[in-house]
Amino acid sequence: MSETKSASNFIEAEINKDIENNVYENNRVLTRFPPEPNGYLHVGHVKSICLNFGLGEKYYGETNVRFDDTNPTKEDVEYVNSILYDVKWLGFHWKEPVHYASDYFPELYEYACKLIRMGLAYVDDQSSEEIHDTRGDLEHPGVESPWRNRSVEENLRLFKEMKEGKYKDGEKVLRAKIDMASPNMVMRDPVLYRILHVAHHRTGNEWCIYPMYDFAHPLSDAIEKITHSVCTVEFEERRPLYNWCLQAYEGKEKPRQIEFARLNVTTMITSKRKLRRLVESGVVSGWDDPRMPTISGIRRRGYTPESLRHFCDLIGVAKADSLVDIGMLEYCIREDLKKKVPRIMTVIDPVKVVLTNYPEDKVEYMTMENNPEDLSMGERKVAFGRELYIEREDFMEVPARKFFRMTPGKEVRLKGAYIVRCDEVIKDENGEIKEIHCTCDMETRSGTPGADRKVKGTLHWVSAKDAVDITARLYDYMFSPDDEDDGRDFIDKVNPKSLIIMKSKAESAIKNYKVGDRFQFLRKGYFIIDKDTNDNEIVVNRIVGLRDTWAKLQKKTK
Ligand code: ATP
Ligand code: MG
Repeated sequence: MSETKSASNFIEAEINKDIENNVYENNRVLTRFPPEPNGYLHVGHVKSICLNFGLGEKYYGETNVRFDDTNPTKEDVEYVNSILYDVKWLGFHWKEPVHYASDYFPELYEYACKLIRMGLAYVDDQSSEEIHDTRGDLEHPGVESPWRNRSVEENLRLFKEMKEGKYKDGEKVLRAKIDMASPNMVMRDPVLYRILHVAHHRTGNEWCIYPMYDFAHPLSDAIEKITHSVCTVEFEERRPLYNWCLQAYEGKEKPRQIEFARLNVTTMITSKRKLRRLVESGVVSGWDDPRMPTISGIRRRGYTPESLRHFCDLIGVAKADSLVDIGMLEYCIREDLKKKVPRIMTVIDPVKVVLTNYPEDKVEYMTMENNPEDLSMGERKVAFGRELYIEREDFMEVPARKFFRMTPGKEVRLKGAYIVRCDEVIKDENGEIKEIHCTCDMETRSGTPGADRKVKGTLHWVSAKDAVDITARLYDYMFSPDDEDDGRDFIDKVNPKSLIIMKSKAESAIKNYKVGDRFQFLRKGYFIIDKDTNDNEIVVNRIVGLRDTWAKLQKKTK
């Protein structure tokens, strides 16, 4: 039993009204998430899931998952499984069992017969072109079908024959008898059932007529005793039809459709059709490519369920369409990982440094905090030696203004270790830097009194002897944040540098981690160990940079 709660959005305000007016028995709240199993879920669905399950949780209610599997030509169990996995991964629990609109095919058929008996539906022999051409438009009423006034008996017989397979695809349809002059085009005798001699992934060849979404959805809601059927705004004009279909339902309590704005995020595509094209054209490696805005892609990229839920809290729920900046999602993952994950040093684009005055066989172990924001995460020892790697971009032979990192003749601190001075740059025959020779000031070791001497720059590093080779995948947006429709096909607009693969050097501590573990690479961003990791290769994905470290690296790798 529910009670009113302080409403944090207009949908909750509507639910509160229903509770005040005792609309539903015991003021129960039952929502549903109704995906069509025709693709993988994306970031937009995260909003719908958080909203529907969030309402269930807030009002001590429950939430069903119902697969809207009324279109057998496009559906597949692969999608069913991935969708259930995604919902669970986000941390939500549906009310068992999982529902399928196809479970209701027998009942839906009976509801259609009931509409026929009520004189509210008829079998039409017109082709889909004829139906389309006689719909009229906003200025002109449609033309009534010549079959519109068949008797109830004839309609029942023909509809039964449709079900029994007597007719070919498209030969007949069942239509609602509403109003061909309605100013709402949706209400101009919409089709309720069509003939499709196609096997269904659950019901096999049992049915050759399939209900349309507009008919199946409200009645499935009613059958499940859903109270609030929350959907996206494009369904607003269909709400009268939703309610119209419920005339067939005898129950006292009818579900209520409430619409909210779709989520759009800059740089992300939220059309299943387009996402499928990215997969099928091979532009990405699959539905779970870490660049994809699918939940499976976002998960593999390294986002946490907590960060996505936090994101949905921040964006809120409104009725007007909005475009959310990707930066907000990135903020949420940084906030979540900041205190949770350890930090280690990894040099993404390594260049070798030799400390010419440092004894050849000497190895020192420097103590480093695993997370300065949470000291309870402890410390570790990091090997230091004569040969090290630093980031290629942390060295400039001719320093730009305000460049305080390594440059000839100047000193920098190697994080947690010593101050070093750059003496010489060794290049190969192509003029590429091979090695940087430095002198180490042996009096400045961190943790000793000599460490107090201040220099401007501090660099991360990895000892060459200790280093582990890893493959770092650096991602950039697939589509520009200020993408505009310039007439080009979207596939042609994919950023060719959305994935850059680097051969990097990590601190040996990385060997303690397994696939799915996350950490911060000091100064370089948050990373996760990817499932492509095997005995020979550690592969990491950059989840998100710390700031905009991206643009610089991209320049270097051009
Ligand atoms: P399709 O065009 O294939 O129907 P869809 O995006 O509507 O795609 P569904 O599987 O029907 O996919 O969606 C399930 C639920 O998620 C629906 O209630 C839908 O309104 C909601 N939803 C889909 N896209 C978004 C989005 N971008 N923002 C918020 N909710 C969304
Ligand atoms: Mg849909």
